[in-house]
Amino acid sequence: MEKQKTLRASAFLSGIALHTGARATLRILPAEVDSGISFCRVDLPGRPSVRALASNVVDVRRGTTIADRTNGAIVYTVEHIMSALHAHGVDNAVVEMDGMEPPIADGSALPYFEMIGEAGLLEQDREAHFFTPDRVLFVDGGATKVVIAPSDKLEISCVTSFAGCPFDPQFFALEVTAESYGRELAGARTFVQYNDLKQLLAMGLVKGGSLDAAAIIHEGAIICKESLRYPNEIVRHKIMDLVGDVFLCGCRVHGSIVAVKPGHPRNVELAGMMQKMMMEQLNNQEIGRK
Ligand SMILES: [Zn+2]
Repeated sequence: MEKQKTLRASAFLSGIALHTGARATLRILPAEVDSGISFCRVDLPGRPSVRALASNVVDVRRGTTIADRTNGAIVYTVEHIMSALHAHGVDNAVVEMDGMEPPIADGSALPYFEMIGEAGLLEQDREAHFFTPDRVLFVDGGATKVVIAPSDKLEISCVTSFAGCPFDPQFFALEVTAESYGRELAGARTFVQYNDLKQLLAMGLVKGGSLDAAAIIHEGAIICKESLRYPNEIVRHKIMDLVGDVFLCGCRVHGSIVAVKPGHPRNVELAGMMQKMMMEQLNNQEIGRK
């Protein structure tokens, strides 16, 4: 029986936010058993919080945004933090932020993954709950397809395609553990297509974007400061995003996921179906006990 986990000490990171370009500070704090992952806006009056759940997702266009409409807490781009927490097997944590966006760091989950690792993990006195689907769940979004099937571990296979890009299409598959994640996924950076970037800049977004925080795909070439960290870095980043988005079902995931050209909209749709199924499973367990 695996126990729930939280952080042993608080973890701290400061840097530039991707869209606003503002300085942002983030702290991840230990939390009580059964409290899950929540984000707290310490810069707003009353320090409102929002639970990291698919049912609280309000925008998926340029990352995963969650909000609690009752108290005004809104947080952008939670996926890389959620991914690093999921990979470490953290069940309970409070992520404090002093603005609506976390520091983007190098566009990967590595800084978050490392800060949690350095803080250390603490086993808590309660059994960990894993979500496992009792049947296959399937999201068919045309070119994008995402499937989760029952499994006793988290394993993800993924294919992406960016036409004209070197190493296209890209495929990667792995069993996600803290160890494999640190080695194979954490360092994979955000990619943005040049034409999308022009549009985002025109909309006044990505003010904090730079070649420190992303690689740009332009006319078949990849533009970035350092060389690629992996030849198939794009598909690894997509898997890293998935690890974060499916964690929005409300607990750690045991499932076999197959994803074709995934993105936040369909990932979150799947996480929503998982969250619903988990509520049904919990209700049935309740009824079974009565
Ligand atoms: Zn991402």
